[in-house]
Amino acid sequence: MTVQILFAAPSEQWADYEAPLTDALKATGMDYALATDLPPGTVDYMVYAPDSAVQDFTPYTRLKAVLNLWAGVEKVVFNPTLTAPLTRMVDEEGLTQGMVEWVTGHVLRHHLGMDRHIVNPGNLWDHEAPPLAPERPVTILGMGALGKACARTLRHLGFPVTGWSRSEKRIANVNCVHGEAGLAQALRGAQILVLLLPETRETENILSGPALSLLERGAVVINPGRGPLIDDAALLAALDSGHISHATLDVFRVEPLPKDDPYWTHPKVTITPHVASETRPASAARVIAENIRRKEAGLPLMHLVDRLVGY
Ligand code: NAP
Repeated sequence: MTVQILFAAPSEQWADYEAPLTDALKATGMDYALATDLPPGTVDYMVYAPDSAVQDFTPYTRLKAVLNLWAGVEKVVFNPTLTAPLTRMVDEEGLTQGMVEWVTGHVLRHHLGMDRHIVNPGNLWDHEAPPLAPERPVTILGMGALGKACARTLRHLGFPVTGWSRSEKRIANVNCVHGEAGLAQALRGAQILVLLLPETRETENILSGPALSLLERGAVVINPGRGPLIDDAALLAALDSGHISHATLDVFRVEPLPKDDPYWTHPKVTITPHVASETRPASAARVIAENIRRKEAGLPLMHLVDRLVGY
């Protein structure tokens, strides 16, 4: 039987994905049909972006899986009409690589104090050398596909890295802590904090005023995770008081960030417009094709979302 695959994402994305998905699906040897429009009752798999027109999954009665193109699933995971298994994007070659590059770049910017030399209107001969990486504790909240990869790279550069997750982890040379009790341990004394948690009911506002107060005075916050992880009023207050010296923010509660948002004009905030990492069609298509192949072969799906915890 031909495997029927629906591409359900904003129409402009079809041009980017049609060829890579076709190549990747062909390479599996499966008999398949891939289209942007199929009778709902015939669809076996849905390649899905949460901003697609499909928000009601009820008519898709034959779905074997919905394969999310994004790592984040907060906009689909609690959709009551979705009963089929949901997978999220994990792609080492694309998404993970991009995040490692973005996080490493922004950590190094703050660690080395690059701004002092890049923006130096008075042409000052400021001879003070930055500390070395081993003297700069970095904490990453979220030790999943992305957090773990960033931790390994930063560790490799010499930073002492602490990583926090829900379940217990063992990662070579990374100080792994977990659960509620581990959070304070992870935050206390960190000089650079990277947020790579998913947006869930438990993680909303996790970076609250009390949490910020545990960081070392002058610490930097880097958020490529999701906007709601941060209590924005508490972060702005901590920036104003000097407890936090800078925040580099890629994600926000409302995107695009409204023109009148105080983050835009705050002198200690750097904004990047949700570009930390994006799904790369060529490598993501291979992950999706492999997942469909596995399911058709009776193997478990990779990167399955836990619908109870929400990521
Ligand atoms: P992941 O593999 O699902 O990892 C999530 C991590 O967060 C896991 O380590 C998990 O713990 C931990 N976690 C979740 N809830 C927790 C809680 N209540 N307490 C403690 N730890 C908790 O996700 P990922 O692929 O690394 O992606 C992380 C997030 O990055 C995504 O959800 C998305 O929001 C964001 N993202 C942003 C961009 C961008 O361009 N800005 C791009 C891609 C992704 P366990 O390991 O114990 O499960």
